[in-house]
This record gives sequence, structure tokens and C-alpha cells, in this order.
Amino acid sequence: MRLIDRDHPDKVKRPLNQEEAAAVRRFCGQGQEVRTSDVELVTALLEEMHDGRHVRLWLECDCSPGAKIQPRLTARVRDEGPRHFVRMHQYGEHHCALSSFRQSPEPEDDELDEDEDSPGLHNPLQPVDDALDFLDDLHEGAARPGGSGGASGSRGGEGRRLPRLGRIMHTLLDGAGFATVNVDALRERAHSWDRLEAYAADEAMSPELTLGQVLYFKPWISPNKKMSAIDALPWPKKKARSALLLFVADEIRDGAAIKKTSMGERIVRPEKGIRAGGRDHGLAQPPYWVLAVVDRDREGNARFREAFAQHAYSFAQPVPLDSRYERVTLESLFGVMEWVKKLGVEVTLAKPLFDREVRQLGDQSQWCRPDFELTFRTIEGATTAPRLHRIVVETMGADEPEYLERKSRTHEIMKRRGILIEHRVSADGDQSERDTAFFRRIGAKILQLAGVQRSGTEARGS
Ligand SMILES: [Zn+2]
Repeated sequence: MRLIDRDHPDKVKRPLNQEEAAAVRRFCGQGQEVRTSDVELVTALLEEMHDGRHVRLWLECDCSPGAKIQPRLTARVRDEGPRHFVRMHQYGEHHCALSSFRQSPEPEDDELDEDEDSPGLHNPLQPVDDALDFLDDLHEGAARPGGSGGASGSRGGEGRRLPRLGRIMHTLLDGAGFATVNVDALRERAHSWDRLEAYAADEAMSPELTLGQVLYFKPWISPNKKMSAIDALPWPKKKARSALLLFVADEIRDGAAIKKTSMGERIVRPEKGIRAGGRDHGLAQPPYWVLAVVDRDREGNARFREAFAQHAYSFAQPVPLDSRYERVTLESLFGVMEWVKKLGVEVTLAKPLFDREVRQLGDQSQWCRPDFELTFRTIEGATTAPRLHRIVVETMGADEPEYLERKSRTHEIMKRRGILIEHRVSADGDQSERDTAFFRRIGAKILQLAGVQRSGTEARGS
């Protein structure tokens, strides 16, 4: 194995020594036993490859004898979580321990359970990092009842509450920027689907195949037609042939997702049904994001196999949401963003689809998933020191008491990410008063933190 220059891949930075190469294979090879010293070696290597902002080096393997190009790994850092290796499938598959890949070794089982007394210590819910994991293993999905299996599914803690297909949907929406809104995007009133296409085109599954060839957005294309196209593609070994259909549905009715078009209703009715994400089990509050798996049944007939649905804010701004309560909060937040923009503060809103890390000095990281996060900078000319501010917003809907209880226990962790502001949403007659109070409170907090001097300006009610 050797480190090569990312911008000039024929330039070799240095070969790895034997211990380093063995450490990488034990750390990232599925089922391998990790030694304590491996962690340190792997961490140092990743730091050498990725300076925190950019990838500088790739790791080239040597397990493909005779091949012109050897399999490669890159290093990735997300906003949240540590540096880690990612396979680059466009350079071919490994013939070493890395042919079965994991991002990091499985933690000890006793670390996985979320302790009642120590919330936030669960195995965090994270994006699907290896593009091959968008596809089912051969004979896995199709043959299994429920069909939502998959080794890299949703192990641990919070992750257990999101099925594998949901995790794939969150990864796509997050990667294509649908979970982040700034005030300019708010005014455009339309989200570009080009970003989804660009994202998918970049996710290589093999030297010949990208996610862009597997993922499509037109529910009016028949499963038969789509599967004929899929059948003609070069396909990774060990993976089942399938496609993924992603769209925003107008309605979910009798186990089918419906898209209204000028040609009438297009109906996507998955054989194994539609699972709901978040707290929205009734699926009666459209629009919905829908991700459906298209494949062939045992007789070879093309079909929609299963689907996952998640509440979307609106067609113009399809921010994925966990409940209809969050829609009320988001409406207020969009209003606040418009209002503070007039006073010079640009707020970026994020709907966290994965767990956010709270680092603790010398202690284990904690994880939480706030309903919304707002970030903004101190305005120019303010008397306070310029910095990035973060406000964490939690929607407290009229949910079961146990749910709210569990939620409020993680609020202590969220408070370490930013100032926490709660928005109570309920179907009683007082909601507009609560919305006005929420608007004023959060607007005032943003202006104060951003250093805006107000001369008698009052936050308007919404
Ligand atoms: Zn290899």
C-alpha cells in the first residue's frame, strides 16, 4: 500500500510500512480483529491524508495483481464525526481484507446500549458512506421478508429507529442539500433537482457504474422499463440488480404513493408496503418524500418492492421533517429568517437528519439530533467579537408523555451545541399566541447574538 497525491495520482508520497498496511486492513476489514495499536496508526494516516479541510492524499492498495489501476481509499471528514476511510469504487474492487469494508470496527456491545442515565452515548446515526451500500446484497433484500435487511443497516441506539431505506433517503437528501436552507433559497421558492443528479453522478459503485444510473426521479417511468435499463448495465458482483426511485408524492393512500401529473395520477404501490419515517405514522399530511426500491421478484417480474416515506415541508421547499408539528415550527423559522435578513443577519437553517456530535473534554463524545439548528455570524461593525453562533430549536408537539420525557433528557446535551429554544405545538386554540411569542423570542435572540443594535424595532408577530 502507498500514499499517492490526490491531484497527481502518479506521484507517490510514500509507501506504507507493513504495520500500517496491516492496521488499515484490520481496522476496516469486516470481521477482522483490531489491535489497540491499530487505532493510533490509522488515525495518524487519516490525518496525513486529510488536513481537516481538504483531501491531500489517497491510499492506494496493492491487492489487484496485474491490474493497471489499484483499488483506492480516500479520507472523508463530515461536519460531524471523525475522519474515516471511504472506498473509491471507480478504481476497482479490493482483493484483500478490504473487499468487505467497514468504516470503523464495531464497538463493544455494552457501549451500544443507550443507558437511561447517560443519554447520548449510543452508536450515532450516520449517513451511508459506501456507495455500494445503496444496493442490497444478492439474495438479501428480495428473499427476506420485509426486505429491509443489510449488514450496514441501522445498528445501535438512535439508528435502530430508522430503517435502512430511511437511512439511504436521509443520506441522499442530506448529500444533495435538501436539509439545509438559507434565506436566498427561501426566496427562490424552488429547489434544484440538479444537485441530486450531481450528487448521484459522483457516487461511484464500480469503475463502470454510478449511483446516477441507479437513482431516478420520475414515478411515471414503469418498473418494467426501468429494470430493462438496469439489466443492461454492468453490475457489481454480490449485489442485487435494483433501482431507487425518489420523488415528492402528493398523497399517500391505501399503501400507495401518488404523484399527480398532467397525464393523471401515477401510482407507486410497493408490494411490501410503505414505511413511515419520523413521528408521522398516519401518512395523512402530504407532501411526502418517497424512496422506493424497484427490482424483480422471483418470477422475474419488475415491481416496486418497498418504500420509505418522510414528511416534506412543501413542494417548493421539501425540507424533510419528522412530524406535522415540525412544519408549524419551520414556518415560523422561515419567517424569522426573512425578518432578520432585513436587519443584516443571514441565517442558515439545518434540519439534522443524522446525529450531531457534542465533544466533551477528555470524555466520550455524546450524540443528539435536534429538530432544527440555526447558524449565523456576528454582523460587521458589531461591538462584540465576530464568531459563528448556533441556536438549537426543539419542537415540543402533543406527543406521548414518554416520548417528550425522553426528548427532554437529551436537551441537556443539545444545550452544549447552542442556545436551546423550545417551540410548543398543540391543537388547542392558543397556537397563534405561542407562535408569536416564539417568533419574538428567537428573533430577539438572533439579533442580540449577531450584535444588531435595535433602536426601538420590535419583532413583528407572525
Ligand atoms: Zn486491497
